[in-house]
Amino acid sequence: MDDTKTMQASDHAHYLHPFTDHKALGERGVRVMVRGEGIYLWDSEGKKILDGMSGLWCVNLGYGRHSISKAVFEQMETLPFYNSFFNTTNVPAVKLAEKLARIAPPGFEHVFFTGSGSEANDTNVRMVRRYWDLKGQPQRHTIISRFNAYHGSTMAGASLGGMEGMHAQGGLPIPGIVHIRQPNYLEAGRGMSEDEFGIEAASWLEEKILDVGPEKVAAFIGEPIQGAGGVVIPPSTYWPEIQRICDKYGILIIADEVITGFGRTGQMFASELFGIKPDLITFAKGVTSGYIPLGGVLVGERVAEVLIGQGGEFAHGFTYSGHPVACAAALESIRILEEEKIVQRVREDTGPYLAQRFATLSDHPLVGYANSCGFVAGLNLVRRKGPTIHGHEYFDPKLEVGMVCRGYMFNNGMIMRAVGDRMIIAPPLIMTRGQIDEMVALIRRCLDDTYADLK
Ligand code: PLP
Repeated sequence: MDDTKTMQASDHAHYLHPFTDHKALGERGVRVMVRGEGIYLWDSEGKKILDGMSGLWCVNLGYGRHSISKAVFEQMETLPFYNSFFNTTNVPAVKLAEKLARIAPPGFEHVFFTGSGSEANDTNVRMVRRYWDLKGQPQRHTIISRFNAYHGSTMAGASLGGMEGMHAQGGLPIPGIVHIRQPNYLEAGRGMSEDEFGIEAASWLEEKILDVGPEKVAAFIGEPIQGAGGVVIPPSTYWPEIQRICDKYGILIIADEVITGFGRTGQMFASELFGIKPDLITFAKGVTSGYIPLGGVLVGERVAEVLIGQGGEFAHGFTYSGHPVACAAALESIRILEEEKIVQRVREDTGPYLAQRFATLSDHPLVGYANSCGFVAGLNLVRRKGPTIHGHEYFDPKLEVGMVCRGYMFNNGMIMRAVGDRMIIAPPLIMTRGQIDEMVALIRRCLDDTYADLK
């Protein structure tokens, strides 16, 4: 009954997938995943696949963690749901809020729970506007974000995001959200050192603040490393300069750590790595290792003092804010992260090893630029290499070489995502050195196949 063809037909008949051309998918036939263990997945044809994307940047602890399913099962038996409205709470939500305050950067004592990263960013929009209202500066309404950022798919999330394709559908962005260019050295750093470019890219924020009027700017939001936009790792000078500019004009900083939170960069939160002192931190994905949906906003002192201190209701919330089962999954996921010293391992051992092994791919004739940070990495496919990284010749985008390469990845049992012609990975944080070797060998084989195909 559950054979691949039947599942594909049924899927096409009824299931509209996110970010998918339904018609084209029907013609191609959807891939049906049936099982996962550790860093591997199996599809309905029995094919074993190394999951280089941790599901969707979330299954950081790998598949088949019995203790998480047990925590979920037990919580379901005890209290599957109760809401956090009307002066009530539940035990896992209380414990998780306290735990998050302990593992967050200093100064984050409060959390607002949501069901996803998108809802968390919607919460941010409402929370910063509420903050400035309470401060008696309601004109501080505008939030500055970046083109090519991804902050979710709700109306506010997609507006904060800077994906032109998303804005084109449905009249986005909503009012009060504006964008600046991203700190992409490869794209815009010609003639500058990386450090110089970091300062230059941050200056685009100051320009925009002056353009909007500093008294009207509420907040700046950014992913410490832009994920869905193609793993854009900023120069080390970028975030400290952004911080200086925001401090100068009294603007709040929202660090969207939906991808980078919970250890991906070798720190519990990437803000600590990049020298960002955010006022709000968006999280989701890794908090439960993707086992069950949960997101939220870590609320820093500056905002909490006003929001709580001045009293009055923050008229915002979700049925599933602080869902006991999701919070139980998160508590167990964080317990595993700590017990197995996973963040420390990524920082001190497997992260540097991945960086070293991934960099060896640069010698491939198709690879113009390969870089990484902790357990997130990307490489650019080029037609002909130039003398410097700004001198490469690229493929005609119409050839969709990234998608060709992605096809070979699947065929060879490897999941790597294509953002244009940049191939990216964000593998489970539990990977061993041996598995990193296996992954890099698989990637090289797929690059060879793509290269042969293009000849
Ligand atoms: N923010 C970032 C940085 C993300 O990468 C994502 C999802 O990929 C989101 C927000 C949205 O999270 P969700 O899909 O859980 O709504």
